This record gives sequence, C-alpha cells and structure tokens, in this order.
Amino acid sequence: MIRINENYTKLKASYLFSDIAKRVSAYVAANPSKAVIRLGIGDVTEPLPPVCVEAMHAATDEMAKRATFKGYGPEQGYAFLREAIAQHDYTARGCKIEADEIFVSDGSKCDCGNIQEIFAQDIRLAIPDPVYPVYLDTNVMAGRTGGNVDGRYEGVTYLDSTPANGYVPAIPSVATDLIYLCFPNNPTGAVATRAQLTAWVEYARKNKAVILFDSAYEAYIRNPDIPHSIYEIEGARDVAIEFRSFSKTAGFTGTRCAYTVVPKSVVAYDNAGNAHPLHALWNRRHTTKFNGVAYPIQKAAAAIFTDAGKQQTKALTDFYLANAKLIREAVNQLGFTCIGGDNAPYIWINTGRDSWEFFDTLLNQAQVVCTPGAGFGKCGEGHVRISAFNSRENVETALARIAKALK
Ligand code: PLP
Repeated sequence: MIRINENYTKLKASYLFSDIAKRVSAYVAANPSKAVIRLGIGDVTEPLPPVCVEAMHAATDEMAKRATFKGYGPEQGYAFLREAIAQHDYTARGCKIEADEIFVSDGSKCDCGNIQEIFAQDIRLAIPDPVYPVYLDTNVMAGRTGGNVDGRYEGVTYLDSTPANGYVPAIPSVATDLIYLCFPNNPTGAVATRAQLTAWVEYARKNKAVILFDSAYEAYIRNPDIPHSIYEIEGARDVAIEFRSFSKTAGFTGTRCAYTVVPKSVVAYDNAGNAHPLHALWNRRHTTKFNGVAYPIQKAAAAIFTDAGKQQTKALTDFYLANAKLIREAVNQLGFTCIGGDNAPYIWINTGRDSWEFFDTLLNQAQVVCTPGAGFGKCGEGHVRISAFNSRENVETALARIAKALK
C-alpha cells in the first residue's frame, strides 16, 4: 500500500493568501462598482529593465541559429553570469567569493526550500517569527519538527521579531545548528546592522552552526552602513550560505533567476565529527536535481551588471522605495508606528489590533488590500504588511482612501 509522507499532515494549512483572495472576491461580488487596490502582494508590477529585454532578445536570436544554438548549459550557471555576480555583488563590496562558489538557479524560493536536504534530520532549527513561510514549511515537510501546537511547531527555536527588539531577533540563549535569517526582512522590512550580523556570525562559529542568509531584498538597502551580504562580516565565509534573487532587484518574478552562494569553507559534520564542505554536497544535489536556467534568462540577468543595467535597476528599486516613503509618511500621519520601507519594499505597521480585523477595515472602508501579519507567524499578530510594489497612482489613491477611512 502506497503511503504518504505524514509530515505533510503536520503543516498548518496555509490559508493566508487564499483567505485574502476569498474575502476580496466576496467584497467585490457584493460591491461591483468599487475598485479594489491590492497593496498586499509581494510581486513586482513594473516591466523588466530595457537592458534585460534587449539581452533576452539577442540571446533568443542566438538560439535560432545552428552556429550559436545552446542545449543544456552548466547546471551551476554559465560562467559569464557567475563571474559577473562574483565581481559586482561580492568583490566590489570587499567580499571574497569566487565564481565557482555561486550556483545559479530559477529562484530563491526553491533554493531556500531545498537547501535543508543536505543537513541531518535531527539538527536544531532557529527560525524567525514572523517569517517567509518557506523556511519553516520545508523543514516541517522533511520531518524536522513536531506537531503544531498553538500556532508553533514543537522542536523549533523561534526567533521573535517584535517592537521590543526593533524587529531584529536576539541571539538565542540555547545552541542551535541551522539558523535562518532574512535581511532586509520579509515581511517586516527591518534591516540588521553590522554589529547585529557580527553577533550572529560569532554565535554560529561558537556553536559550529550554519546561517542561511536570505538577502533577496538587498538591492533596496540605501543606508550605507547596512551590510548587503553576510560575507561583509568577518568569519562568515566559514559559517554562512547566502541566497540572492533577481526577482525584486530587476523584476524577474516571472522571468525566474536567482543564485545561492556556498563558500568552499563552510562545513557541516558527520556522526563521527568529521567536517564536510557543504559546497560539494550542494553541488551534488544541484547537479542531480536541476538542469540549469535558460540561456536567454541568464543573459538577461547578466545585463543588470552593465553600467546601463545598474542605472536601470537602481531606478526601478528607487521607484518602489519612493512608493514606500509615501506609505510610511501616510501611516505615521495616521498615528501608527511602522518599520521598513526605507531599506526594503515592505512596511510593517503596528496596528495595535487584531490583524484580520484591521485587514477587513481597510478592505471594507478603503477598498485596499493589505496582508494580515498573523499569517506570517505568532509575532505577526497586531501587524499588517503593506507592499510598495504598485503603480504610483494606485499607491496615492490607496493612501488617500486609507486616510479618509481611518481618520
Ligand atoms: N526570499 C524571500 C524573503 C522572498 O520574499 C522571496 C519572494 O517573495 C523569495 C525568497 C523568493 O524569490 P524568488 O522569486 O527568487 O523565488
């Protein structure tokens, strides 16, 4: 008899986005003349930078000719892209990362989700709350947690991000083995200082642990003192894996390209205490289960590292950050405290009330959709996330409506 992976039955049914969709559809059906503005989504709205489109067209033309046609490429990504990433995202920031430590993929979601495969079953996890759900759910699926009791999985050390700690979790008082960190954060938009990241790296080194650092939103950092990469911290090369994506940097959510950095010096241990480089394990996993990102997409991604590409992606992220600034100002004027939006495309509002109730108020009174914080974890209760990914016109209209509804 075929049987299921029973760990899947432990998953707390993720009703967040379907619940939102249901409530929005019900509202629209009852109020067909009212136009709803969605400020809840984490997807971009603006088109690809022209340099990416041109590079993709040119690469597609190459695929049309026998002389330049390409079949399977290297699973880890073409050298032209890995070298450009190493040079522009790392060497330029003083980080020692080699091109062959970079694994190009079709998305950070897959990489963040798949990475746990290379670790033992009985490791101790440290996972933020609120959280991008992929880190937690993939470990539940793999059987690394107990059941869900009162909204939390047994056996996980939760890293609480609250108003009291400025939404940057404190170092746990207990030892853990695999630590997920995300800065700039989704959903809170909080960033971690050099000192805070240094403390995490020291903790990981002391405990022979590994940090999984998700910096999908690094392109939104404007404060020059905030590190863009965990490798800007001394010693991180021995204890950290980093995830980056072109999704929010250059509008690639529908185009799909990302990368994971696994320095050759990061190790984990076997039962006998022998160290094994994770680079070799991830390389084995990646080449066995993945067959490379499409050539035209990698060409489009590499184009963002040209001078024109840098200007265009900066203009794109500046555009969303200008939306974020308008949202922050409007939220503050209404008397709420919030975080994010200055180095991140998300604004995390401390509503002081039930997050679904606040969601319903915005939907019913202002026809604006936000994301209730409770959907990201226990510590998300009392908060909502507003995203800056929208047109200026929609943001301005939404803010005017919110101000009218809440005043
Ligand atoms: N990491 C975080 C924190 C995200 O918010 C997202 C997407 O929303 C991803 C990773 C996934 O990005 P990708 O589009 O590369 O799969």
